[in-house]
Amino acid sequence: MIYYKTQDDIEHIRESCLLVSKTLAHVASILKPGVTGKKLDQEAESFILDHGAKPGFKGYGGFPATLCISPNACVVHGIPTDEPFGDKDIISIDCGSFMNDYFGDSAFTFAMGGVEDDVMELLVTTNESLYKGIEAAVVGNRIGDVGFAIQQHTEQKGYSVVRELVGHGIGKSLHEAPEVPNFGKRGRGPKINDGLVIAIEPMINMGVKNVKQMKDGWTIMTKDNKPSAHYEHTIAITKEKTETLSDHSLIEEAIKNNPEIRNISLKS
Ligand code: MG
Ligand code: MG
Repeated sequence: MIYYKTQDDIEHIRESCLLVSKTLAHVASILKPGVTGKKLDQEAESFILDHGAKPGFKGYGGFPATLCISPNACVVHGIPTDEPFGDKDIISIDCGSFMNDYFGDSAFTFAMGGVEDDVMELLVTTNESLYKGIEAAVVGNRIGDVGFAIQQHTEQKGYSVVRELVGHGIGKSLHEAPEVPNFGKRGRGPKINDGLVIAIEPMINMGVKNVKQMKDGWTIMTKDNKPSAHYEHTIAITKEKTETLSDHSLIEEAIKNNPEIRNISLKS
């Protein structure tokens, strides 16, 4: 069952999402080759706790960390490790927070300075597809319209859409109905009604769409070990407008001030 949100619910989810965005911006400010996922995770956890909230993922279904850190061929749900990042790595970082009884959820894929142009193109296209999905998320449309927009934008570049993992409703629970696939057919799926709050999160692979799960029970990798990118926003859809509650501009600003990371909006 879908829980439609009041304006009051939406404001609480916005607060939680804003903290997630600030946490990811903080992470972006310290990310560089040589840093480990564990270090970023500790920083993110302290940041969230210092702001009077709780990490949204830690303990969720037994997940052991504040951040999901998924480098290179890791699609999502990577557990932070002691392995230092390299100059050619892309790193998807997903963060959730729980504040005043509401969850916030957002993700961003970062590129170190030495990342190749063809991999940058995957990041740029995946990020663009997130906004195509958001554009389609309006009252009167259906969830299939969102997936269709993401799938069309990414497949026309030759990339593939992960099928096993999808976006979701969000509110007092991290994962609520409806599921929001990143593929689909126009006019299909649940109707988008006033007060729907969802996380849209394209997971796009450079090679095949197939994924495999690692023995840790969490980490999802691409089957062909080619790179995968992931961007996520939590959005609120009302009959007046569709609003993005998480804020990647804070992250993009931090990237601009960090010479170790490539700006995904610039292809050179
Ligand atoms: Mg997420
Ligand atoms: Mg999510």
